[in-house]
Amino acid sequence: MAYEALYTRVRPKTLAQLIGQEHIMTALTRAICKNRLSHAYLLVGTRGTGKTSTARLLAKAMNCDKVFEAQKSNQPLLATEIPCGKCPSCLSIDSSPDNVEFDAASNRSVEDVQRLLSTASLAPLQSRIKTFIIDEVHMLSFEAVNSILKLIEEPPPHVAFFLATTEFNKVPQTIRSRCQILNFHLIPNGLVTPYLQKLSKSLGIELSRDAAKRIGRLAAGSMRDAVTYFDQCYAMADKTISLEDVEKTLGLISDADLDEIISAVQSQNRTSLSAALSRAFRSGLSSISIAEALISRLRDIEFGLIKKRDDSELVQLENLAAEVRKIIVEMQYSGVPDIILEMALMKIAAPKVTVQQNFSSQEVPAQIETLDDVKKIFRELRAQLPESEKNMRAMLQSASVANFAGNVLTLNFTSPAMASMFNDARQSQFEEIFSKLIGHKIKVMKVVGANVGTDYENIDERGKQNAQTAMNFFQTDNFSKTNEDNF
Ligand SMILES: [Zn+2]
Repeated sequence: MAYEALYTRVRPKTLAQLIGQEHIMTALTRAICKNRLSHAYLLVGTRGTGKTSTARLLAKAMNCDKVFEAQKSNQPLLATEIPCGKCPSCLSIDSSPDNVEFDAASNRSVEDVQRLLSTASLAPLQSRIKTFIIDEVHMLSFEAVNSILKLIEEPPPHVAFFLATTEFNKVPQTIRSRCQILNFHLIPNGLVTPYLQKLSKSLGIELSRDAAKRIGRLAAGSMRDAVTYFDQCYAMADKTISLEDVEKTLGLISDADLDEIISAVQSQNRTSLSAALSRAFRSGLSSISIAEALISRLRDIEFGLIKKRDDSELVQLENLAAEVRKIIVEMQYSGVPDIILEMALMKIAAPKVTVQQNFSSQEVPAQIETLDDVKKIFRELRAQLPESEKNMRAMLQSASVANFAGNVLTLNFTSPAMASMFNDARQSQFEEIFSKLIGHKIKVMKVVGANVGTDYENIDERGKQNAQTAMNFFQTDNFSKTNEDNF
């Protein structure tokens, strides 16, 4: 006997059973009760969020005898009663010739569409309303779209269209403007988890909460994916499904293994990192899947930290997630993604060489006699900044030394944005290093676009005077304040 996928068996039977789409359930129930359904709907949302199920429910409801009677007698209906599922129409609609459903991805030409919609102008054979459900409508060719526009705009009174799409931006404006749009949301894990547990209970099997949460996380908002993943685990399970069962059946790397990788990177323990990565590679997952799982785990931990308002660790994790995202792009174009992942994580976990460490060994303070000496030190400092300080280097590359007088070093930035990014914390760090280099304490004054040119190596007397004028003009306090306001 052919196995019927669990997802098709548990499709919603009434509007009330649509999960995570209360806004749509409420709007449609009201429209049906008031007999104000549109003749054309565009159902928009990620795969597995209930678009096709809703279109089928609407097609059924439009023909349901009970709904029809209620509309005639002005009786209110509950979402649990739409459609009734028991009347002759509800029982026969799935095999009715008046109910046409097709996928535009495989029927995208104008000939396909004309053939499939050829009966639209004819009266229904059995039903009250003829319904056409077109999946992935954005895949229709330009000519096919044009051929159905007129039909959608002014359909015969006995016809309704339900167009579903996962890519709203690719649906031509001409179609969008002729349909009522229903936006389907991603289904939060808070709804997926209890649904899966309830479903497993109805099948006589115990699904642990951790296991259900893990499946929900993997499905990322798609109920169809969640039920399909659960179906795979259910097929292999005995009486219970634990988190471990889910990870084994679906070939997932465990949270504990991911946490070990993250913790090893954070504590810069490359020995532990190497061991954790070896274990992950032994799980048989591709290195890209491991990196993606790492991002997903980092996101979960970040959410936890946001709730706890722990900003310092949050920034650290965000930086790590950004690095892993970059690694994934690199891995996609490499023949040896395993090595790329390992080397990149090892590099991130390498002990950081801070700017202070780099320069603290300089025992003899630099001799300063002219402005050129100051510029030379500035250039050397910038050139010697380690890779870990590339942000600081980028900022200093957009700055030049405009003047040095009274222990105040004037830096001229090429743009307000760069000057703003060189914030108080960075400025203090820079002042500390520079003070060490020249042997006494200095303060930095920021100016922007002063007329000294960016070619600081050729600054002349006139340039110095200009810088002085600019310095007088841009009062540092005012400048900083304005900058904070602007950026
Ligand atoms: Zn019915």
